[in-house]
Amino acid sequence: MKKLFQVGCIAATLFLFAACREDHSKQQHDQMQHDDQHAAVYQCPMKDEGDKTYDKPGTCPKCGMDLKKVE
Ligand SMILES: [Zn+2]
Repeated sequence: MKKLFQVGCIAATLFLFAACREDHSKQQHDQMQHDDQHAAVYQCPMKDEGDKTYDKPGTCPKCGMDLKKVE
């Protein structure tokens, strides 16, 4: 009976450990996606606003051209 309890204990620990790891890796993944979006900068290809950049894709408010992603 005692051995069964120990096995159950180990199984529960492993389960919690796996659940914890999964949660952690998901958080890391979300963080990475967030960083990716944050790192992307968009700029008008005509540069009619100088070095002004945007953090989202879209169109230039001045000339209406699609903003280009700056690497
Ligand atoms: Zn423009």
